Amino acid sequence: KELTDINALIDESLRLSYHGLRAKDKALNATIHTSFDAGVGKINIIPQDISRVMLNLFNNAFYAVNEKKRQLNGTYEPKVSVHTKKENHSITITVKDNGNGIPQNITDKIFQPFFTTKPAGQGTGLGLSLSYDIIKAHGGEIKVESTEGEGTKFIIYVPFV
Ligand code: ADP
Ligand code: MG
Repeated sequence: KELTDINALIDESLRLSYHGLRAKDKALNATIHTSFDAGVGKINIIPQDISRVMLNLFNNAFYAVNEKKRQLNGTYEPKVSVHTKKENHSITITVKDNGNGIPQNITDKIFQPFFTTKPAGQGTGLGLSLSYDIIKAHGGEIKVESTEGEGTKFIIYVPFV
């Protein structure tokens, strides 16, 4: 573990995800909103691992809004946001999108390795399973709240001393 400016790491992952996906698909366009709690400071994490988690979550969020845009075109405004908040002994990271959401009957499967609803070649189904393991290894928790048709929110707690 290394003392890491986690807000900066999250911001960098967000940019990497957005620009990486846009390089492959020029049609991708989303309003991005960030709100970082400046009080978070530096915390002890494995930076490469937390970057992977954030990249997975952002890639999924942009994919979700892009799919919805493809279906609706017109009035829909794709939105992805990230928020950090410092608590006494943990930081909470929230990643939210207004994509199609996750059908209730599959929410308990999304953290399983190789579970994907994406077409062949577009998803391995490993992103969330790996993210789950990384967050557990940090002593934290990852949770999802989603409303079908409205969007998805992933919430991560990372404790620190
Ligand atoms: P992959 O992205 O390769 O499919 P993940 O483990 O990252 O694998 O995600 C598993 C599944 O969870 C996705 O295929 C999708 O069905 C669902 N999912 C994850 N994030 C979102 C999201 N933000 N919006 C809608 N569905 C999602
Ligand atoms: Mg993924």
